[in-house]
Amino acid sequence: MDNIIVLATGNSKKLEEIKDLLKEFPVAIKSLADFGPMPEPVEDGATFDDNAYKKALHYAKVLGLPCLADDSGLVVDALDGRPGVYSARYAGPGATDWQNSEKVLQEMAGKENRAAHFVCVLSLATPGGPALTWEARCDGELTTERRGESGFGYDPIFFFPELGKTFAEISMEEKSRVSHRGRALAEFAGEFEQVRTWLRQRMGEIKPPKPDHSQFEHNDWSQERMV
Ligand code: IMP
Repeated sequence: MDNIIVLATGNSKKLEEIKDLLKEFPVAIKSLADFGPMPEPVEDGATFDDNAYKKALHYAKVLGLPCLADDSGLVVDALDGRPGVYSARYAGPGATDWQNSEKVLQEMAGKENRAAHFVCVLSLATPGGPALTWEARCDGELTTERRGESGFGYDPIFFFPELGKTFAEISMEEKSRVSHRGRALAEFAGEFEQVRTWLRQRMGEIKPPKPDHSQFEHNDWSQERMV
């Protein structure tokens, strides 16, 4: 059970990106779809870190397997950090990517400071609670109109100066090399041998857990970091 990692995301684009980045590693990567319907976590954390950990721990407990979750979003300087942790539902519950990015463009109308960055926090949680965390960001600027067709979310309005294009104008491979998620995953991948040892220790210590659908809190004591 120490060589299976479940990617805890229902977002098929993210899943594709993450699976692609981890394809070289000696670990079986599963997705939630491999396990059938199950209860969803509540993403009500105040930070990306809280939400990533909540998601990872929720699915780790439900499945009894190590789960890797990401929480990510767009942080806009001129909007005091919004949409931030509300990125997925900025224009309201069930809002589409198009509606969310339109709302940001409208709020940014006439603003000179167009600096923005994406943040990604990855949390790898074990069913017993301990988790490892990686965080990365990617800096860019907001455009005044949508450009490009690829990617998802705010990609068409996120201009990446190093490449002179929006994230929707570059391939998934190019984006993975420079994006917040790509960078966080590269750190994760770079520490993979230590991660496996850590997982082996944690997964060996516990009995296969019974399904647990209860609510749980994010405890600081349960966070661990690789050095
Ligand atoms: P969550 O991490 O699934 O809670 O949602 C994060 C939201 O942030 C997504 O629905 C997107 O709107 C936005 N987001 C996160 N990463 C990216 C990215 O790489 N490109 C564009 N939008 C992103």
